[in-house]
Amino acid sequence: MSDLETFDAVVVGGGPAGATAATDLARAGRKVLLLDKAGRIKPCGGAIPPRAIRDFDIPDALLVAKITSARMISPSGKAVDMPIDGGFVGMVDRDVFDEWLRKRAATSGADRRTGTFEALDRDTDGTAIVRYQPKGSPDGTLESVRARVVIGADGANSAVARLALPDEQVPLVFAYHEIIETPADARPGGTVDGARCDVYYQGKFSPDFYSWVFPHGPATSIGTGSMHKGFSLRGSIADLRVALKLDGCRTIRKEGAPIPLKPRKRWDNGRDVLLAGDAAGVVAPASGEGIYYALACGRVAAEAVDGFLKTGDVRELAQARKRFMKAHGRVFWILGILQKFWYSSDKRRERFVSICQDKDVQKLTWEAYMNKELVRARPAAHVRIFFKDLAHLFGLVPP
Ligand SMILES: Cc1cc2nc3c(=O)[nH]c(=O)nc-3n(C[C@H](O)[C@H](O)[C@H](O)COP(=O)(O)OP(=O)(O)OC[C@H]3O[C@@H](n4cnc5c(N)ncnc54)[C@H](O)[C@@H]3O)c2cc1C
Repeated sequence: MSDLETFDAVVVGGGPAGATAATDLARAGRKVLLLDKAGRIKPCGGAIPPRAIRDFDIPDALLVAKITSARMISPSGKAVDMPIDGGFVGMVDRDVFDEWLRKRAATSGADRRTGTFEALDRDTDGTAIVRYQPKGSPDGTLESVRARVVIGADGANSAVARLALPDEQVPLVFAYHEIIETPADARPGGTVDGARCDVYYQGKFSPDFYSWVFPHGPATSIGTGSMHKGFSLRGSIADLRVALKLDGCRTIRKEGAPIPLKPRKRWDNGRDVLLAGDAAGVVAPASGEGIYYALACGRVAAEAVDGFLKTGDVRELAQARKRFMKAHGRVFWILGILQKFWYSSDKRRERFVSICQDKDVQKLTWEAYMNKELVRARPAAHVRIFFKDLAHLFGLVPP
């Protein structure tokens, strides 16, 4: 057996999922290594719901904008505003947000290192050995540590998943955005409004997902997503910027990344590796919302790992997926159907935006998004929506 340093848990990836798992495990008294490769800002629209702010103690100072309404724009250009009744959606800049989460993990007691995970080997006694390339290593030599458990929170292209759970491929949406300087004429009710997120349901800008304009104070994210490999995301954003007269705004960054759209069937390898966040595939279909789910997944992963370390029972690791899906599986299922049906043609998108005019739909949508709970207390509203939905589905009402 080697005399390498041994950690209770090595967390690979310091995004919302990994930083949260490392924080919670360190707070539980575990010896944790948080490894992140750094050097790249996560491409992201940065919208987070109040539930994320509440449950994960996100300070107000990290919110660069507070959104009080969403505008849905149909293929024909019809705009439907969905005001939030007494609340807001927070906008975060991922460079600042993620660094804050990693620092919190370090101040909670995690050993934070900057480097790239390269390989997963086994010691003579079977314990996992994590090999990584420290940032700035002059000769490329890898460093190694032993881990009783490895948490793979290294994003949608997870190297840990490729090595430890190679059998499953998760469907991906490719998303791309440009960060531009917010135009000087941004104003309430204008094309860019600092307190409103705009969502474009138009096939010409995305044939199967949606496009967006999300304000972040002095900067604005304008982006789009699609599962079609041949679709030009860059071309779409160039066109959208022209259409919105935002082509003259200075471009700060251009970046893209895949978004997984289905939770993996297995998150653990039945031995000592557990996936979390995008690596586990937990992004909500239809919306592409992943920050809250990554934070929540990091938390259930930490609980499961702590349970495993306490008992040595490997079935504890599978509890992470069970707990997460119990809390969010139904919403993911509904959103998956919604995406498949309503995002499939401009005709359906037109009707979908039309449905969003309905006050019951608006209220239930915001309640579900803000608090991550399906509201059971108002069955009458659900029934009304169901019949309205059917009426739209069969074209019984004009769009
Ligand atoms: C364009 C775009 C817009 C989006 N907009 C929104 C939005 O508005 N709201 C929302 O909720 N979600 C949004 N999402 C989804 C959201 O960004 C992700 O779901 C979320 O970041 C997942 O968090 P994570 O911690 O699982 O992974 P990530 O945030 O991807 O973090 C993974 C971490 O792992 C590190 N890493 C990767 N490989 C290695 C390695 N080999 N070694 C060491 N470290 C490694 C990376 O440096 C990174 O820090 C968007 C995604 C995209 C692509």
